[in-house]
Amino acid sequence: MKIEVIKGDITKIHADAIVNAANSSLLGGGGVDGAIHRAGGPKILEECRVIRNRQGKCSTGEAVVTTAGNLPSKYVIHTVGPVWNDHKEKSSELLSNCYKNSLKLAGDLGVKVIAFPNISTGIYKFPKELAGEIAVNEVRKFQSDSIEKVIFVCFDEENEEIYKKKLKESF
Ligand code: ADP
Repeated sequence: MKIEVIKGDITKIHADAIVNAANSSLLGGGGVDGAIHRAGGPKILEECRVIRNRQGKCSTGEAVVTTAGNLPSKYVIHTVGPVWNDHKEKSSELLSNCYKNSLKLAGDLGVKVIAFPNISTGIYKFPKELAGEIAVNEVRKFQSDSIEKVIFVCFDEENEEIYKKKLKESF
């Protein structure tokens, strides 16, 4: 599996699936969630509502999928990152689950290229270094017959440097 780190806006990425750092309501929010719904149009939110009516809210660490509306990808995988709360072990496990469950869902859908934002490192205040380490480790560990490439789309230079460093260290 190829792993790439780039700086950019995930709504512009041409991949089979992009991942959204959603909140448990699935009804949209700020940050990357707001950007995805703005750029993708109302179809994504409609599908999120259907999922919500079926299963209730999405728990932290879990992932659900919708189509991608007007975005250049096929799917949006919505995962709910943990809010950083100083329970390092628990928060780390939940963030690991976000990556694992998103990758698993993508694999089941036959996704070849998937792009992740830096989940939980914005409004949810997860320490960036630790979040980067968890993200890279989970992707490295993941075995898939379908996924060929994972792109970490960093919105700021600090995260871009962190993810590049963590990726280098993981070889
Ligand atoms: P969370 O609530 O999980 O912290 P945020 O959306 O606040 O979610 O932040 C997650 C990460 O997404 C942050 O690093 C933020 O800078 C980044 N981000 C915000 N907008 C975009 C975007 N359009 N594309 C990629 N990353 C983005």
